[in-house]
Amino acid sequence: MTETDTTPRSPLTDQPWDVIVVGGGAAGLNAALVLARARRRVVVIDAGAPRNRFAAHMHGFLTRDGMSPLELLELGRAEVRGYGAEIVHATAVSAGGEAGAFTITLDDGRVLAGRRLLVATGLRDELPDIPGLREQWGRGAVACPYCDGWEVRDRRIGVIATSPMSTHQAGLVRQWTDDVTFIGPLTADLDPETRRGFEARGTRILTPAITEVLSDAAGVLTGVALDDGSTVDLDALFVGPRLVPNDELLRQLGAERVEGPMGEWTASDPTGLTSVPGVWVAGNTAAAHMLVIVAAASGLTAATVINADLVGDDTRQALTR
Ligand SMILES: Cc1cc2nc3c(=O)[nH]c(=O)nc-3n(C[C@H](O)[C@H](O)[C@H](O)COP(=O)(O)OP(=O)(O)OC[C@H]3O[C@@H](n4cnc5c(N)ncnc54)[C@H](O)[C@@H]3O)c2cc1C
Repeated sequence: MTETDTTPRSPLTDQPWDVIVVGGGAAGLNAALVLARARRRVVVIDAGAPRNRFAAHMHGFLTRDGMSPLELLELGRAEVRGYGAEIVHATAVSAGGEAGAFTITLDDGRVLAGRRLLVATGLRDELPDIPGLREQWGRGAVACPYCDGWEVRDRRIGVIATSPMSTHQAGLVRQWTDDVTFIGPLTADLDPETRRGFEARGTRILTPAITEVLSDAAGVLTGVALDDGSTVDLDALFVGPRLVPNDELLRQLGAERVEGPMGEWTASDPTGLTSVPGVWVAGNTAAAHMLVIVAAASGLTAATVINADLVGDDTRQALTR
């Protein structure tokens, strides 16, 4: 007697996808949109925690300026699904295989197979451990003056000195207000020329460490407390978090890494192709500096090259039939 396979069939795991996109932020979704419109079988695996989820508004994206970042992605998912791509809410926990036969294992144990992989898992912002800072992240405490500078123009802005990059940040925010205070023990290391430049433009430099970020009863940032017992009244605080790429899957696949201005990152060419044939990166997984519109564009670029790569595969397969 022949045994019947009673395993439930799932369109997700039954047959290989042309492309598995891990990460459904602006980069991954834009890639999926282009690939689905190129009539590729595409699945997006997304854990649903985009980096800018803490912000109510997104800026610097033509025609979308001021939109909620989560609304942008919701609209994006609808567009992607409209062309037949699948979007699965899950976390990809492991990656293996090689070009033509990659596997991605999800946190619920399902295993997907795909001919090509695009990893667009973004990065994590690791904030300095200061009480009250996390609660303000994306609201009173921000990182990017091009994203949030306009909203606090002419207000009292503090900048935390967390690394040598903070000096650049403190210099930059002076473009949005003439009331800048650069705070923290690292400011003691400023070279004399930089210090003179700050002082010439009226930027205050305070060397005590910040012990707490202060908020009022409504949760609005009001300033910072310092370890000399004083407080500084502020309307906004700029901070440079440590940027950590979400690159666990790429490490598992053995992708080469390269030292860059933000630390070690996955090495990739201008299309996002990594050192592993068949594996691309896009968005903040490719480079830390990419804002939303750039991340989306990098997804598009990777998608067009992935499709061309698959066309080459399709032709080789046709020739061997
Ligand atoms: C507070 C804040 C405010 C910002 N404001 C702006 C702004 O106004 N304008 C602007 O242009 N940029 C802004 N940015 C930058 C913006 O967040 C990034 O440019 C953008 O999110 C990059 O898109 P991405 O697709 O590369 O990554 P993300 O948007 O971070 O998307 C990555 C996705 O991958 C998912 N993921 C990660 N690991 C896995 C896994 N293993 N399996 C499945 N899914 C996974 C995540 O859950 C997430 O959904 C801001 C950033 C921050 C922190």
